[in-house]
Amino acid sequence: MTTATQFEQFNALCKEAGITPTQQRLVIWQTLTEMHNHPSPEDVYVRVKPQLPTVSLATVYKNIHLFIDTGMFREVSMHHGTLRIETNSALHHHLVCRKCKSIFDLDAKQLSGFPIPQSLPDGFVAEQFSIDVLGLCAACRKSKP
Ligand SMILES: [Zn+2]
Ligand SMILES: [Zn+2]
Repeated sequence: MTTATQFEQFNALCKEAGITPTQQRLVIWQTLTEMHNHPSPEDVYVRVKPQLPTVSLATVYKNIHLFIDTGMFREVSMHHGTLRIETNSALHHHLVCRKCKSIFDLDAKQLSGFPIPQSLPDGFVAEQFSIDVLGLCAACRKSKP
C-alpha cells in the first residue's frame, strides 16, 4: 500500500519532472523503489500486474522510459543490450556477471583509491565515475563445468 508520505513524494517528483501523476505511474514508481536488483522492465511488469491487471508490458516500458528521461530513475549502463533500472541513488560501482548477467552494487568507497584522470580528450572534465567490474558471480563459478 502507498503511504501518504510516498504519495506526496511521488506527486512532488512528478511536478519536478513535468509529468502527470497517475495511479498507474504511482504503482510502477513505488514498485521500482522497492526493488534492489537492477530490475528489467519485465521484472517490474510481473510485480505490478496483480495491482494493475489491465497494464501491458509496453505500457510498463513506456513509463520506465519516461522515468529515466525525466531523471526520476537512472538506467544501469548498458549490458548486453537489455534495459535495467538503477534504484540505488548512492554513488556506486557494479560487479557484472558475464554468464548470468547479474549486476551487484559495489560501494563507491571500495574503489576510492582509483584516481580520476586529470587530463582527458577534448577538454572533458570528469566529476565522478562508475566502474563495471566484469567477471563471474559465486553461483556461476560453482556451476562451471
Ligand atoms: Zn552469474
Ligand atoms: Zn547499481
